[in-house]
Amino acid sequence: MDIAIIGAGIAGMSAAYDLARAGHKVTIYEASDGVGGLARGFKEPHWDWSVERFYHHWFASDAHILGLMEELGLRAKVLFPRPYTVLLHDGRWYPFDSVVEALRFPGLGWGVDKLRFGLVGLYLRLTKNWRALERVTADEWMRRWAGQRVYNRMWRPLLEGKFGQYYKEVPMSWLWARIHARTTRLGTYRGGFQAFCDDFAAQLRRLGVEIRLNTPVVRLDRTSAIGRIDQLTVTPSANATNATDATNYHKVLVTTSPSRFARLAPDLPQDYLQGLLQLKSMGAVVLVLALRQRLSEDGYYWFNLPKDAGYPFLALVEHTNYVSSEHFGGEHIVYCGDYLDPDHEYFSLSREELLARFAPALKRINPDFDLSWVRNYWLFKAAYAQPVPALNHSQHIPSIETPLPGLYFASMSQVYPWDRGTNFAVEIGRRAARLMMGE
Ligand SMILES: Cc1cc2nc3c(=O)[nH]c(=O)nc-3n(C[C@H](O)[C@H](O)[C@H](O)COP(=O)(O)OP(=O)(O)OC[C@H]3O[C@@H](n4cnc5c(N)ncnc54)[C@H](O)[C@@H]3O)c2cc1C
Repeated sequence: MDIAIIGAGIAGMSAAYDLARAGHKVTIYEASDGVGGLARGFKEPHWDWSVERFYHHWFASDAHILGLMEELGLRAKVLFPRPYTVLLHDGRWYPFDSVVEALRFPGLGWGVDKLRFGLVGLYLRLTKNWRALERVTADEWMRRWAGQRVYNRMWRPLLEGKFGQYYKEVPMSWLWARIHARTTRLGTYRGGFQAFCDDFAAQLRRLGVEIRLNTPVVRLDRTSAIGRIDQLTVTPSANATNATDATNYHKVLVTTSPSRFARLAPDLPQDYLQGLLQLKSMGAVVLVLALRQRLSEDGYYWFNLPKDAGYPFLALVEHTNYVSSEHFGGEHIVYCGDYLDPDHEYFSLSREELLARFAPALKRINPDFDLSWVRNYWLFKAAYAQPVPALNHSQHIPSIETPLPGLYFASMSQVYPWDRGTNFAVEIGRRAARLMMGE
């Protein structure tokens, strides 16, 4: 078959891998100038490694992506350094990424709350019955079983940070998936995530996959007489090196956001289109700083910043307290990130304006911090960054196989009950490939 894939993110590339190995002719259309989608990185000339635009790591339990790397012969490049994640209590930061540290954390007291926290965590690690948990909100379930204090201290800040105004609507199955499937060991790739994406793309090209960068697809049409998608209309951007006209394909896989897919394929039946448009999601805004000095002198990697403590963003991540600053010419890489509604004002602010807003928070982490420490900084925004599941979400997920024969859709919104991530992008991409091949 002649197959087109829209998007050279991890899902699109994973589908391409299986399709090309099965002998199909695959063309990937990518709107931007590089591969990797949300997992992309960037590099300064004097850095050896790239830095992810949006902070990224793998969990030791990410079997789909680690398995794919094994197949690609790239597994040896995955590293698991030991970072420290910290929580705030009474103005002090406490490590919180092992059982021992959780037991020592003073924020839950020493009595029944700590016990409830532990028992609820254990239950969620052991149970597989997420379907029962999707009928109740995380807000309601956690208040009831973990108790008000544990919920308010541990879980509510996480839900509020990730889902903003929607936090009370999110089903308990979402929280179950995070607790059930994640490990405290965090992995990265030698050279950064971009190096992995480039290694992956190089192998795809060797398999005969054509990757057309700078080539946004603007429309997918079908010739109804034949009854299958057989025309894909591509409008290359002004600087496209791969200018093409409309091309016909037997099958097409789209890996964009649901709303973009709805715009690309208006021929989809109304109820499927409605299903796409009803899906909610949050955007992400991340300011990346290259500092001349280390910010967290304690060497902490991930600071969970409670919004009620007045921080202007959700996560402060000192990347170089996880991977060595040697890879970045001795510079210290710090992310200031947040999940926000796409119409939040941060989406319209410049990097200078955001730095001015965020700088006081950096001073709270290290009182010596000064703007003169900032050697350079970058701002990245994504309108579609974190799907927001609803109660009984499993019944509202658009199918990968769309009602238009030959047209398939695989996105972050469909990996539920799992939370989005590159691991599940691999899983859904490969699942889509199997469906496209009729398996
Ligand atoms: C802030 C943040 C932190 C994250 N942290 C982690 C983490 O720690 N670990 C982890 O594993 N995952 C993490 N993720 C999630 C992970 O990045 C995604 O789940 C994964 O990359 C999604 O891959 P995808 O291929 O489904 O989609 P995408 O990466 O979004 O790829 C879609 C591609 O389609 C292209 N495209 C869009 N429209 C068109 C068009 N019209 N024509 C052609 N191309 C088009 C886009 O340019 C993009 O390259 C994080 C995400 C964010 C935003």
